[in-house]
Amino acid sequence: MAKTGAEHLKSLQDGRVVYLNGKLVDDVTTHPAYRNAVGAAASLYDFQAHPDNIDWMTFESPTSGGRVNRCWQLTKSYEELVARRRAIEGWSRLSGGWLGRSPDHIASSMVGQVMGLPVFEKHSKERAGALMDYFQYARDNDIYMTYVIINPQADRSKSVSEHDDEFLATGVVDEDAEGITVRGAKMLGTGSIMANEVLFANIQPLRPGEEKYAISFAIPMNTKGLKVMSRRSYEESATSSFDYPLSSRYDENDALVYCDDVKVPWERVFIYKDTEAARGQFQDTYAHYMQNYQAMTRLMIKMQFQVGVARRMCETIGTIGIPSVAEKLGHMAAQAAMVEGLVYGMESGGGMFNGYYVPDRNLMYTAQVLTQQLYPEFITSMRELAGGGLIMLPSSAEDFADPDLNRYINATQKSAIGSAEEKVKFMKLAWDCIGSEFASRHTQYEMFYAGAQFVTRSHAMRTYDWDRSAELVDSILDKYSLSDTIGGDKIAAE
Ligand SMILES: Cc1cc2nc3c(=O)[nH]c(=O)nc-3n(C[C@H](O)[C@H](O)[C@H](O)COP(=O)(O)OP(=O)(O)OC[C@H]3O[C@@H](n4cnc5c(N)ncnc54)[C@H](O)[C@@H]3O)c2cc1C
Repeated sequence: MAKTGAEHLKSLQDGRVVYLNGKLVDDVTTHPAYRNAVGAAASLYDFQAHPDNIDWMTFESPTSGGRVNRCWQLTKSYEELVARRRAIEGWSRLSGGWLGRSPDHIASSMVGQVMGLPVFEKHSKERAGALMDYFQYARDNDIYMTYVIINPQADRSKSVSEHDDEFLATGVVDEDAEGITVRGAKMLGTGSIMANEVLFANIQPLRPGEEKYAISFAIPMNTKGLKVMSRRSYEESATSSFDYPLSSRYDENDALVYCDDVKVPWERVFIYKDTEAARGQFQDTYAHYMQNYQAMTRLMIKMQFQVGVARRMCETIGTIGIPSVAEKLGHMAAQAAMVEGLVYGMESGGGMFNGYYVPDRNLMYTAQVLTQQLYPEFITSMRELAGGGLIMLPSSAEDFADPDLNRYINATQKSAIGSAEEKVKFMKLAWDCIGSEFASRHTQYEMFYAGAQFVTRSHAMRTYDWDRSAELVDSILDKYSLSDTIGGDKIAAE
């Protein structure tokens, strides 16, 4: 049997400390700020446990023998990588790609870390052993993980150790025979309210002397001293599913995470005070590539969804037959298909890494660089296609309940393809995709979840096959020379 939604919901009633609107949240599974998003997360597990889906969504854990999601699979061939991606797609489809940090994101990162175990072994055999034991535990229990790998944005002109508060970012306060004590914050943990455990790490560059921040560990969300400071909930402010179909269901939330002297046992510590290992954890293993390959697979589904919304919008307002509108839609369809092509390219262009079959990392960074620019452009295109119809809408579903208003709505909300109710229903969905606070947060997410542009572009620069390009340039340069030109034949033959 695979993990079910009910099991996941029960696991979240664990006494975790989550703050919202100045209060402590009792139970994230029932709180009006989170319950639907938590329910959406739980439904992922019900989907995988369903008899129709269990074979393609899960595989047999080599350690427990139980069925767990394929996101935990250490792929050994192209076919396994594709089968694993189909499971990622399966989950992603359930929300139209709007759950960015479904459990397969950090599981993919963990898989990538285990694929690069030698990086941890070089750091410390003991810490590498802790990582492997933890991975098996997380896989065998199909644990929902989140991660916090970026230090709080405070004053980016200063390095992490230059701030007045030594423990602005999470760092080591103390150690003893049982483990380490950590204090300080990490910038954002998406999905913290609905995850079982959180991985702490430091992906940003560290200088010599900043070893106390060069740590990585995983702890349950209910660990003593761990505080989750939730951002505003869009689910809570959504007036109804009819008015905010996405905000009310898929607001996975993001939270600043603070360690108020949290004790972490040694068996949960994977990197300890080693700046080179902290860097290598993401870039020398396959963590960064696997986690963002998952993200691109999810974005592929979201782009398919968004282009569907764009087309329906043009059908609704009767502009679909206008040549320039159709041309714009064709361009958007090509942009959506490009993401799909890049995902398939990552897979077919992949290769072996420490005995595992992995996606092509440069194509993954290519996709990131292009899509963090493409997504806001795509949203602007959708706004251009929409006009004011997205705003010319009844204030809420309640308006339909009043007989007079209902008559006026039917008289005014005309559409090229359906009833007033159908138009309002669809236009409210479209607004939640491109204009609501939820939609706006998603644009910020797609622009930043994998790092600012200067970061992803530097990765693209680092991983591109420059030798291949240099060889091509040299192959032409080698065909002629100044001495040949001056000495005789001015145009060298091929
Ligand atoms: C919705 C959302 C969800 C997120 N979820 C998570 C999560 O679950 N886990 C997690 O760990 N992180 C998460 N993040 C954080 C994310 O990883 C960071 O936002 C990202 O790495 C960029 O870091 P930053 O926000 O500190 O921006 P900064 O690094 O401060 O950059 C901001 C801007 O400043 C400029 N800039 C700064 N430094 C330079 C430089 N050296 N060179 C050139 N320009 C520069 C650029 O214009 C840049 O775009 C999330 C972010 C968002 C928006």
